[in-house]
Amino acid sequence: MPGSGNCLCGSIAFEYTGEPALTALCHCTACQQWGGSAFSSNVAVLTTNFAITKGTPKTWARTGDLSGKKHHLFFCGDCGTSIFSQPEGMPGVTQIKSGNMKNSNIPIMAEIFVTRRRDFVTAVAGSKQAPEMP
Ligand SMILES: [Zn+2]
Ligand SMILES: [Zn+2]
Repeated sequence: MPGSGNCLCGSIAFEYTGEPALTALCHCTACQQWGGSAFSSNVAVLTTNFAITKGTPKTWARTGDLSGKKHHLFFCGDCGTSIFSQPEGMPGVTQIKSGNMKNSNIPIMAEIFVTRRRDFVTAVAGSKQAPEMP
């Protein structure tokens, strides 16, 4: 199902077409820090299916602990919302932070970096569990 969304202040908006390639919770410490939360909720789509429809996000690249590859993070320069990311380890994939989507209540296919999951968070029933990156 296609989707769309925007940052908290509305300066940046996006949309995607087609079906997500993956929906996943990530428990890695970088996601915990970037989102200021216990985990991130991601909808991965093909970048060719993804478009920014309003504004220009700021970007910053983090180098992965395990992969050594850059992970480009995109966020709103006005309100600071984490909007999406593009990992060089997964060329052609855009990971949308699903909390920004108009319909974010979509099933979670997988959880990754579950070895770093916080003690108070339980696994999503029926989702694939990966200790690190699958
Ligand atoms: Zn904003
Ligand atoms: Zn992560």
